[in-house]
Amino acid sequence: MILDVRAVAPFYKNGFVVGCERTRQGIVIDPGDEVDQLLAAVRDHDLDIRHILLTHAHVDHVTGVAAAKEALKAPVYLHRDDLFLYENVVQQGAMFGFRVAPQPPPDVFYDGSPIGFGDYETTVHHTPGHCPGGVCLRVTGSGQADTHLFVGDTLFASSIGRTDLPGGDYARLMRSITDVIFPLGDAAIVHPGHGPDTTIARERATNPFVLEYLSRR
Ligand SMILES: [Zn+2]
Ligand SMILES: [Zn+2]
Repeated sequence: MILDVRAVAPFYKNGFVVGCERTRQGIVIDPGDEVDQLLAAVRDHDLDIRHILLTHAHVDHVTGVAAAKEALKAPVYLHRDDLFLYENVVQQGAMFGFRVAPQPPPDVFYDGSPIGFGDYETTVHHTPGHCPGGVCLRVTGSGQADTHLFVGDTLFASSIGRTDLPGGDYARLMRSITDVIFPLGDAAIVHPGHGPDTTIARERATNPFVLEYLSRR
């Protein structure tokens, strides 16, 4: 699997390019302020991007959607429950003190169908809590041992997503982490929306927020 990650100031939000090494088909996940670097990576890998997938619609994860869609001519996917956030991206930016351009409407709402690119497949798992329409994108390849989880801001290495923004809900977040993401497999590689990669096994064993929650359940 081809995998590239980029992040820039001020949010240091991870944007991803994922591709099939055989067919050169690929996806872009969460294009934000680093979109020019993602597009450069797409060119470097000679990829044909088929889908632009959003883990959720917070401002840092969507500011590059217009540029990515214009350059890649690929449809944009979002969970329906985050449409209110997506449509308010300009106001979200203002809340953080940034001037943000409105983005083009999403083309597809996730409906549970797998999303393919080359020899790979993305399945979409609804993980509300950080926001209502958060999803975990699970990427697997035929004949590939590794499972890759793009979890947005639901789960981080040794931390969890904040739940104090509009639509946030701590109990739902913890259920999404422990009942939806963890069953996807201890060996799965987790790619959070901010910061370094981790694994399910590591977070299950050492994440202080998870350990505290499970000890009380
Ligand atoms: Zn977020
Ligand atoms: Zn974020």
